[in-house]
Amino acid sequence: MNVHLFRSGDCEPEVLSDVSALLNSFPGILNFVEQPEVTHFTEFFHQPPPKPEFLTSFYNNKIDRPEKEDFENRFQKRPTLSWNQIFDKCSQLRQQHDIGNEEFVVLLTSYNNNLNWFSAGNPAGPKDHFVQTDDWDYFLGSDRRFPIAYQIASGVLKKLVFSGYQDLQDHWHEEPRGCMLDFCKEKKQISLKVRTGDICSDCLKLIHERGVSPAVVGQIFSIFDGIRTHMLFKNRFEISGNVPVLHILGRNKDLAFPELGMLRLHLNPLEKALYLFFLNHPEGVPISHLPDYKAEILELYASISPADSRETIEKRVEEMIDPVKNSCSEKISRIKRKVTDALGPGMASFFIISGANGTPKKIPFDRSLLVIQP
Ligand SMILES: [Zn+2]
Repeated sequence: MNVHLFRSGDCEPEVLSDVSALLNSFPGILNFVEQPEVTHFTEFFHQPPPKPEFLTSFYNNKIDRPEKEDFENRFQKRPTLSWNQIFDKCSQLRQQHDIGNEEFVVLLTSYNNNLNWFSAGNPAGPKDHFVQTDDWDYFLGSDRRFPIAYQIASGVLKKLVFSGYQDLQDHWHEEPRGCMLDFCKEKKQISLKVRTGDICSDCLKLIHERGVSPAVVGQIFSIFDGIRTHMLFKNRFEISGNVPVLHILGRNKDLAFPELGMLRLHLNPLEKALYLFFLNHPEGVPISHLPDYKAEILELYASISPADSRETIEKRVEEMIDPVKNSCSEKISRIKRKVTDALGPGMASFFIISGANGTPKKIPFDRSLLVIQP
């Protein structure tokens, strides 16, 4: 059964590809399809966007953190859509791509919606679902891939179990139990159910009674369990000190961490070539010596650079390793920022290219944790 994942133009492409990679790391009968088409809501914004209706009750309560003001500014500036506008887009995408009624359409958007739900299924019946993609880090202090993937998987399961919103409302838990059916009024409360990754015994019984395919239920449970494990791996790093295994994947040599739910490092081809070079040299190499390794860096860059001419490839590499230019140091800083954003500062220290000026630069982590997947 296909679950088609789309994004609107305001939601960054990495959010969709990361969430899709995470969900697809739990194979099964549900197939999560990352759709390249991007939809837009701009036609609704000729006038200043309407303000959300429930800012104070849903978002403003109980938030008392230094970033509050910053968060509120972002929230207020973001346009707000009605559920109808969102689900009309889902219906258009379904038609354009000839997606059958049995398959799911999920739309990721950063925009607010008028009821301020974090995610919702189409009340009119079709298997459409949206997930709001922003602010998760603010509420959960964790990688937003996890709650977004959780919302998608639980949205699919809810649609298969319940006949509609009234049915759902008759069963959801007003008091949080750490169950998928906790009705979370605040993004903060979702933390409990995502971290627990559990389903209470009442809900298990209901899922069984309603005859949902055990293959689908099994896969969704393994997604919940996996998200929980990946989150814990990251959150417990400061205590456990467990450094994750790094995989280099396929022809494009993408860099991913399976124990963190296939978390990927989004490096551009030149940055990736430089990173792969330092992976090949655990002993470290001073930046000023890079011209001696030109052939090796050229070969790495050529293997991942999309269809550029040999001349262009050579020019870019020469510029990067030119000792009188600052290009290489700038790239190392950019890589450092991307790695730190992905892993958090503690874990990142093993994966950044480090070393004082004039000394060999190296990536410190133990190379026995490196796996090359052709
Ligand atoms: Zn329950």
